[in-house]
Amino acid sequence: MVGPPRLGLDADVVVVGAGIVGLATARALRRRAPELELLVLDKEPAAGRHQTGHNSGVLHSGIYYAPGSAKAQLCTAGKAALEAACAAWGVPVVRRGKVVVATEVGELGRLDELRRRAIANGVACYPLDRRGLAAVEPHVAGVAALAVPGTAVVDFGAVVEAMVGELAGDDVMVRTGVTVQALHPGDGHVEVRAAAAGGDTSVRARAVVTCGGLQSDRLLRAAGVPPPATIVPFRGEYVALARERAHLVRGLIYPVPDPRLPFLGVHATRDVHDHVHLGPNAVLASAREGYRWRDVDLDDLVDLARSPQLRGLARRWWRTGAGELGRSLSRRWFLASARHLLPELEAADLRRDGAGVRAQAVRPDGSMLDDFAIIDSPVGVHVLNAPSPAATASLAIGEVIARRTLERVRA
Ligand SMILES: Cc1cc2nc3c(=O)[nH]c(=O)nc-3n(C[C@H](O)[C@H](O)[C@H](O)COP(=O)(O)OP(=O)(O)OC[C@H]3O[C@@H](n4cnc5c(N)ncnc54)[C@H](O)[C@@H]3O)c2cc1C
Repeated sequence: MVGPPRLGLDADVVVVGAGIVGLATARALRRRAPELELLVLDKEPAAGRHQTGHNSGVLHSGIYYAPGSAKAQLCTAGKAALEAACAAWGVPVVRRGKVVVATEVGELGRLDELRRRAIANGVACYPLDRRGLAAVEPHVAGVAALAVPGTAVVDFGAVVEAMVGELAGDDVMVRTGVTVQALHPGDGHVEVRAAAAGGDTSVRARAVVTCGGLQSDRLLRAAGVPPPATIVPFRGEYVALARERAHLVRGLIYPVPDPRLPFLGVHATRDVHDHVHLGPNAVLASAREGYRWRDVDLDDLVDLARSPQLRGLARRWWRTGAGELGRSLSRRWFLASARHLLPELEAADLRRDGAGVRAQAVRPDGSMLDDFAIIDSPVGVHVLNAPSPAATASLAIGEVIARRTLERVRA
């Protein structure tokens, strides 16, 4: 039921943000509390327009995350739940499997550590020697690898469509084109103030959940809570592999990660539609919702320039940042990095192919919030940090938020 807003509605719970986390939260609330009136609001003309609609389409297995962390627990639980839901919705999921490849002997220790972490997280995986790797991915150069057969791919756009359809069938309204600006606690209710095409509006609810992705810290501020971390946007650019060269990649191919920045390093993915892309990289974006180099948002830029977060990040990661920038600006530099894994690649095989922007919460000292972060306030429950693998984990994250919200609504 995505459509133009009908203003002035009241609801028991208002969910702000119709990305995959907001939709999954509404779904979990509906399943746990069929009697409640639920309303989902999003500022864009349709659901899933930001991170959810611009990602790699990977259902992550959960090998990277610190055992016991929310990421580790919710990724494995969420993946299983999403695979089951996709089967029920008729949304295709393909288990392509992934290899994490050591290209030199010096990386074997970290590969081993990754295997121990995967086992601690209950993820099935097995080691491959050079010959074993060649049997799985014949065009990859490596001395050894870790195979993770459960890693799958899906079209998250199709997942969003299925979720919105299911919610509509369950009488949950998804109103688009409504920008939430302020959340005020009232007497036994919360007033949600918003701007929409028809003018300003306000909705009264018993509790609010915010799942604002790239705007999550601002929504926390709108609720009167100073955010403990600020969102720093990192654009992740993709490079497509020419169709006639797509045979170079059978599944998902990743380098051994730096445990502090596991999302970095050139990697290759064969998506659910059989397109192969390389990336995404991570370059600082000059607009939170800026998908191209030329997209600049002055407010975002001023916020970023003033923030201690940026100075802290620059102090810690300037060398890594420079490398990412170099690979973004120079095709030759990117190709040289990609050839570590896929030596047969040629410049003519590659073309630019869109981008997404990651919302990464960063503390004032410049350290990144690694785990998912969900915060309570006087008006409700707020997602502050839901980076990758939050799309994979969405249904499990939704369950956590729904539980916390219902405790409040039923208190
Ligand atoms: C390049 C890239 C690759 C990724 N690859 C993967 C992957 O392969 N697998 C995986 O599991 N994860 C991946 N991720 C991470 C994943 O996409 C995100 O973690 C997930 O989509 C977060 O969902 P969300 O609902 O929190 O945020 P979003 O999808 O960003 O949704 C937030 C919503 O809030 C709305 N909103 C914001 N402010 C307001 C307001 N004031 N009023 C009303 N509405 C508002 C926005 O319009 C938006 O629709 C990737 C992310 C990126 C950027």
